[in-house]
Amino acid sequence: MRVVKTVDEMQQASRECRMTGRKIAFVPTMGALHEGHLSLVETAKESADVVAVSIFVNPTQFAPNEDFESYPRDTERDLGILQEMGVDFVFTPTAEEMYPDDHTFFVDEEKISKTLCGVSRPSHFRGVATVCTKLLNIVLPDFLVVGMKDAQQAIILNRLIRNLHFPTELVVAPTVRDEDGLALSSRNKKLTESQRVEALKIYQSLKTAKELTEKGTTNTDRLIAEVTNRMNSLRLRVIYVKAVSLDDMSDIREVVPGQTLIAVAAWVDQIRLIDNIVV
Ligand code: AMP
Repeated sequence: MRVVKTVDEMQQASRECRMTGRKIAFVPTMGALHEGHLSLVETAKESADVVAVSIFVNPTQFAPNEDFESYPRDTERDLGILQEMGVDFVFTPTAEEMYPDDHTFFVDEEKISKTLCGVSRPSHFRGVATVCTKLLNIVLPDFLVVGMKDAQQAIILNRLIRNLHFPTELVVAPTVRDEDGLALSSRNKKLTESQRVEALKIYQSLKTAKELTEKGTTNTDRLIAEVTNRMNSLRLRVIYVKAVSLDDMSDIREVVPGQTLIAVAAWVDQIRLIDNIVV
């Protein structure tokens, strides 16, 4: 496994792979790896000859009041795990390498990034789209592998690849959950035991929505009301519960089976969590 720190070296290595006809699958991460990330690496291994993973806590996707400084970081452990999994390249640039002093360029999506998490985190997807554009230009992958856990991000990246004509195919892998249903997230490391109990209500509420649709409820207002009601408590505060189209994140009034995403964001005390389910 080769650990690469500079843009030039990564581009050079990727070009060499491509010149020898090997396909590259790329998994971007912010590190503090868990089984969710590892499932993406497995998918990447199945998709291509060469697997590249990036570990970069991207400052531009955090607002000044967010948890950039306290975001979990454990690069040594991450590298050990990736080595064991047989990853070929790990790209671990510094912030200066990715954003030099003369950096004045950003990539802004103007529609699907403005809803759901884009409402309460208005600069977040601008940071995500910018860093992913850079990473695609650096790693030059044939496949970009991302998780359904961040469904809005996946849909924005799908649009980014198409709208900006990247010669890359998006692969979206399913959400990996703990045995109790909690969606794995690097931020789960911050949860105390009692906060975790609160966090569990998120997926339980989403499952209720799915059960209701299976019993015939199609009105999404009802589903949203049920999910919101089941989630809200003193320590679990709903930021949003929305029923949206998987296609473009637009609001859906009547469930279109298999095409409707119930997406939620909530605070467990000061920790922001997201999750979703397709109904
Ligand atoms: P992050 O390190 O949080 O930026 O996530 C890196 C990638 O891992 C993104 O594509 C996420 O959607 C994906 N991911 C995060 N958590 C999970 C999970 N529980 N299951 C599947 N993929 C995940």
